[in-house]
Amino acid sequence: MQADMNKAGRLLLRAIEFADAHENRPLLLVVQRGLSLVLPLILVGSLGLMFQNAPFGLGELLESTLGPSWSTLWDTLVSGTFGIAALALLCAFTGSMAMLHNQQRIGPFVSPSLAIVVVMSCAFVLIAPREPAEWENIFYINRSFLLSLAVSIAGSTLFLRLSRLRALQLPMTTVGHDPVVRDVLTVMPAGIAAIFIFGVARILLNFIGIPDVDEAVRALLLAPFAQASDTLGFGLAYTGITQLLWLVGMHGPHMLSGVEEHILVPAAQANIAAWHDGAAPVFIFTKPFFDAFTRMGGSGSTLCLIIAIFLGSRDTGSRKLCRFALLPALCNVNEPLLFGIPLVFNPVYCIPFLCAPLLQTVTAYLATVLELVPRTAGEAFWTTPALVSGYAATHSLAGVAMQVVNLAVGVSMYLPFVRLADTMQERRGKRVLSALQQAAACCHIGPGGRKCLDLPGEAGRLAKALANDLAATLDRHDQLFLVYQPQLHGTLHRITGVEALIRWRHPVYGFIAPPVIIALAEDAGFIDKLGLQVLADACALRAAWVDRVPDDLRISVNVSPRQLLHPHFPENVLAVLTDAGLASHLLELEITESSVLEPNPHILEALKTLQGQGVRVAIDDFGMGHASLRYLRAFPVDTIKIDRSLTLDYGASVNEHIVRSIVELGQAMGISTVVEGVEQHTQLERFLALGCSIFQGYLFSRPLPGEECLHYIRTQPSRD
Ligand code: C2E
Ligand code: CA
Ligand code: CA
Repeated sequence: MQADMNKAGRLLLRAIEFADAHENRPLLLVVQRGLSLVLPLILVGSLGLMFQNAPFGLGELLESTLGPSWSTLWDTLVSGTFGIAALALLCAFTGSMAMLHNQQRIGPFVSPSLAIVVVMSCAFVLIAPREPAEWENIFYINRSFLLSLAVSIAGSTLFLRLSRLRALQLPMTTVGHDPVVRDVLTVMPAGIAAIFIFGVARILLNFIGIPDVDEAVRALLLAPFAQASDTLGFGLAYTGITQLLWLVGMHGPHMLSGVEEHILVPAAQANIAAWHDGAAPVFIFTKPFFDAFTRMGGSGSTLCLIIAIFLGSRDTGSRKLCRFALLPALCNVNEPLLFGIPLVFNPVYCIPFLCAPLLQTVTAYLATVLELVPRTAGEAFWTTPALVSGYAATHSLAGVAMQVVNLAVGVSMYLPFVRLADTMQERRGKRVLSALQQAAACCHIGPGGRKCLDLPGEAGRLAKALANDLAATLDRHDQLFLVYQPQLHGTLHRITGVEALIRWRHPVYGFIAPPVIIALAEDAGFIDKLGLQVLADACALRAAWVDRVPDDLRISVNVSPRQLLHPHFPENVLAVLTDAGLASHLLELEITESSVLEPNPHILEALKTLQGQGVRVAIDDFGMGHASLRYLRAFPVDTIKIDRSLTLDYGASVNEHIVRSIVELGQAMGISTVVEGVEQHTQLERFLALGCSIFQGYLFSRPLPGEECLHYIRTQPSRD
């Protein structure tokens, strides 16, 4: 049993590694990024499609009451979104390809806009109808998806490669000095050549008798179904090919519409006629059979995926998308999942997306053969919600029971992959998190004044997702909470204070480093709210400890320089103290000066106001920044906290001199010094010899949850 578990674990790990390796392929990234760019279109289009095909005659009813503008509204919405989505995808893919090309610095810079213009032209040259026709058919989302993608990849690759040929580059001197014009003109001949090559391809296709690529592919796909039959093999082949087509972004049932027209619809009609005549329906596989039993929530039975995500996913992004996708899914419209998760070209979800409907085909077939479920002899429009459609298709509650069984089958197929997707995301996230941590720790600030949100690539995207999660978590104490680290008098073993430190346990990525939390809150503009919440929680805890800890035990709270710039910061702090019922001399604010180059007059003003009211001020990470001494000159701080980097390498003679000077300076100015990051006895002894008295570090205690910290304080053997 144990061995089996290990084997399963290893297999899962291999699967993750395989999927991970393929997830990071640049082409796959381009496709998935392109898809995410058209997601707004897909979401609006899905709603439009749902209302356009509202079940139970609801659409007709609303149209008769509200007039024709009701359906015009949805028709226009579908045309304006799904109708041009393939074109939008083409542009998005091409733009991403050009950006990738520029990032990899191969060949001259290619303007993504120019690449889009060139590739769009290639596409029109290749697929524009010779007769004026409905353009919508050409760019409809899942009809021309694969063609758009193929043209985009072929066209961009061709154009980008041609642009590297020296022979096709215009010499810089002839194109003036406007940088935009120069970039475009340099690669212009390559663009013209690419369009021309697509023109030749079109002529060749016409020449070999393929004027319409879409039609040609459909004819090819119908070949295996030339012989109509009602066997399990037929059912599996139809389901399997439909799903495979969806996986590459093509509308499966549309591409196999010949099967529907010539086999499935006539079979359904024959069954309905037999049922009306009181005879036994003959056919197992009909259109309602597939709609009711293998397409609950849309192709791939994606209602099962939504349920599996709600049951098993810790990823807030997927859960949010599923909340959006649930309503259309009830009417079997699943484009938000196909293009939003996305399921299309997804190396993880392709397995259950293919296998769940296959398994459901088998279970429903067997149940029908064993006469547990009647053959489908009812009419159920494809948008009829699951469970209702089971009854409508079979005229029997057994049909509903079959759907419940198939829902369970589908959910159990999707669930392990939902967990796998979470694990992969977690792994990828952890890699990117270390980049975020570095960005948050360093002083570099982007052009928008932000440390993390403007980072390029994966790091920036993760930062945005985390900032959203953090904003949604502000009021949740199970994820965002404080821990407290005691500060001790080294010889007396008396606890003089505790420092409140923030913790965020993210449901997918685990604990996020506090500097990242603070940087995200600063970047996204809610540091004031978060900071006040930290302050309020810390003060409330200290107030609740009254009579249980020494009267003079202080609570230290870290304050980001951004918070100090808020015009009402001093009043807000005083209001928090009043609300908590805490005396101001028990609060110490720790300000990190390393991120502020110059003592800012607003900040000094705010600190002086607070100090005037009795609140203590400490300078954190003293010795790291450039303004340490200037701060000391600007106003009388109460405490200096010696940075851990100076105490960690204590032994290096330069550090020893610096620490000695800081301690002497503190003693001369009557400022207390706290030594941070004390982990070893030897460290402690040397600092004691230097005259330091207050210490904080793992040697005494790690930061602890409130109750445990109180217990620690109360059980310390005091020697005074
Ligand atoms: P900090 O204010 O210098 O806090 C001390 C950090 O050193 C804490 O890390 C603490 O857990 C860690 N530490 C304490 N003793 C030892 C030790 O002996 N060895 C080692 N290796 N580390 C020790 P933490 O909690 O990860 O916080 C990191 C930084 O994040 C803090 O540095 C502070 O600048 C910031 N931060 C934490 N909570 C808040 C908050 O609520 N507001 C603001 N603005 N910043 C916060
Ligand atoms: Ca601190
Ligand atoms: Ca510090």
